[in-house]
Amino acid sequence: MENNRGNKNLGQAVIATENEHKLKEIGAILKDLHLEVLSIKDVGLEGLEIIENGDTFEENALIKARAVMERAGKLAIADDSGLEVDILNNRPGIYSARFAGENATDDENNKKLLKLLEAVPLYDRTARFVCSIAAVFPNGDAIVLRGECPGIIGLEPKGRGGFGYDPLFIVEKYNKTFAELGEGKKNRISHRAVALEKLKKELKARLKNR
Ligand code: IMP
Repeated sequence: MENNRGNKNLGQAVIATENEHKLKEIGAILKDLHLEVLSIKDVGLEGLEIIENGDTFEENALIKARAVMERAGKLAIADDSGLEVDILNNRPGIYSARFAGENATDDENNKKLLKLLEAVPLYDRTARFVCSIAAVFPNGDAIVLRGECPGIIGLEPKGRGGFGYDPLFIVEKYNKTFAELGEGKKNRISHRAVALEKLKKELKARLKNR
């Protein structure tokens, strides 16, 4: 039987992100585990510069979570995400946010992607969103989990919702882009949702054994 009563007040978890949306999304999952959720602001680490120089989503998520755990002394959770396009050898990958340049806008990134895929037919535009989530415990133990959501890169942007590459990312099951699907549905099937669900299961198991 699912029962969290024994886990009450098991501790605190710092969410290593400056992004309010992620803080809320990850926080909602952790609430269920009776962990007190803290932002980096709550632990006085606002504006902390972390150099994400890993080669993979997993490494970058771990770098962020470890940097915050080491300073706050508490369980820290961080994520790293992006888009992999098969025919581009998984680019933009970890460079998704800055695909068209260091301070590129979503629109510039999307335009660059469309340009690179100009001559590529729909059936060869397979892609996936990836999200890695890392949790680093005060004793140094770490877990890293990956969530993926497969899709196709459309021939033109569609829809007004979401952010980033959402207007180009078609989910085959619905034949709609993430930007057309709406936040509710997107957040149930997204790479982040899949990774967070795995994290929840893993943390539940670990906290139970404390
Ligand atoms: P980060 O994990 O916040 O660093 O995200 C990196 C980049 O990946 C974002 O700036 C977006 O370009 C892209 N990305 C990650 N998740 C999504 C998503 O759910 N929709 C659209 N773009 C995303």
